[in-house]
Amino acid sequence: MNVPVWNPAIEFMEREALERLQLAHLRKTIAWALKTPFYQRRLADVGLTRPDDITSLRDVRNLPYTTKDDLRDAYPDGLLAVDREQVVRLHTSSGTTGMPTVIYHTQRDIDHWTELVARCITATGATRRDVFQNMTNYGLFTGGLGLHYGAERVGMLVIPASSGNTGRQVQLMRNFQTSVVHATPSYLLHLQAVLAGEGIGPDQLGLRKAFIGAEPHSEETRRKIESLLRIEAYNSYGLSEMNGPGVAFECLYKTGLHLWEDAYFLEVINPHTLQPLAEGETGEIVMTTLQRQATPLLRYRTRDLSHLVSGHCACGRSHRRLARLTGRSDDMLIINGVNVFPSQIEDLLMKTPEVGSNYLIQLEKRGSLDRLIVKTEIEARWFTGHRATLDDLRERISELLRSAVLVKPVVELYEPGSLPVSEGKAKRVMDLRPVF
Ligand code: ADP
Ligand code: ZN
Repeated sequence: MNVPVWNPAIEFMEREALERLQLAHLRKTIAWALKTPFYQRRLADVGLTRPDDITSLRDVRNLPYTTKDDLRDAYPDGLLAVDREQVVRLHTSSGTTGMPTVIYHTQRDIDHWTELVARCITATGATRRDVFQNMTNYGLFTGGLGLHYGAERVGMLVIPASSGNTGRQVQLMRNFQTSVVHATPSYLLHLQAVLAGEGIGPDQLGLRKAFIGAEPHSEETRRKIESLLRIEAYNSYGLSEMNGPGVAFECLYKTGLHLWEDAYFLEVINPHTLQPLAEGETGEIVMTTLQRQATPLLRYRTRDLSHLVSGHCACGRSHRRLARLTGRSDDMLIINGVNVFPSQIEDLLMKTPEVGSNYLIQLEKRGSLDRLIVKTEIEARWFTGHRATLDDLRERISELLRSAVLVKPVVELYEPGSLPVSEGKAKRVMDLRPVF
């Protein structure tokens, strides 16, 4: 395979040189961090007062962790490390798990972020000849502007469609023969269902690739998107605290997401003991920014779960790969004492051929017991009017889920398009259990 690459000097850099570069960037980051009272205090607590106190990358282990709560406490500018005049933009997180966090950027930060996104786009084989329709929200959410700037840097024709308004999205795709899109996987499945409903097949579109991210999704969901739209879909991982998209992306080989290690120092830890985990062991992703001046973050606990893929990628990039993110550590549901991750449920649903593109997980309390209700759309042809067929399917899905997650759910079947669709991140779990 011919490997397309944006910045060969960095992307193929030997590990030793890459680590030397990381060390230099880390010292610089400590110097920036020491400009904030927050880190002055935190670093003084571990006896670190000068960047030169860092002599090897192993010293990272002595640095304090930074949590989402720290960022919330520091809101709005407790972590700002430069003069306000140097700041050109701010972004916030989506606020999926509470109050949003804010990150500031200098012009240099934006330029660097743009470079990372350009690397990601190029790694998927997309080029300046592509027409790129960005279907994620333009605004405080980083998916819009983040991808936008990177795509322009690559030289693509960018359609800043933003999210929602599916009718207009379809029109733009047809009028401009959009060849690459960026969307959440749940929205892309919705878009596909609308296209199919209007009788527009893949052959009437110029689409060849999609970047999908911002929310957890299974390999089965990716396959479904790829086969229904007849495209290649690449997993994109990012979070506003680490700029946004451009943190880690799949290359043409799709064997994990290369994380740009000249920009982020990566650790995987056990979220309970906080001890580092070995390659292949799943735990919480922790990252230190190595390039961000306005809001440096040391050992930021992302709460996202994944593991490092071992071995080398056939593309030749030296930057290590993260396995598909399975969700957040706080996504875990405890149902009658059993630990269940929503991703396990999605995995199974998407493997079931009758299942459509949307589903919802609901939790209720019945007496002292929890009740798991899985609402799922199924393809229209199953609504034949034969009750027995539907009952049979319902029982089959329920039994499949029980054997995988050890909790037997009540399964409800819905016609395509009848469950609510989110324009941004899908809200799949509704926990209606009373909080004591
Ligand atoms: P919030 O944390 O409020 O959702 P962000 O908009 O910054 O705010 O979203 C970042 C989060 O989205 C990540 O921490 C992660 O949980 C999730 N995410 C982003 N990309 C992916 C992906 N490709 N797979 C799974 N989860 C993802
Ligand atoms: Zn690769």
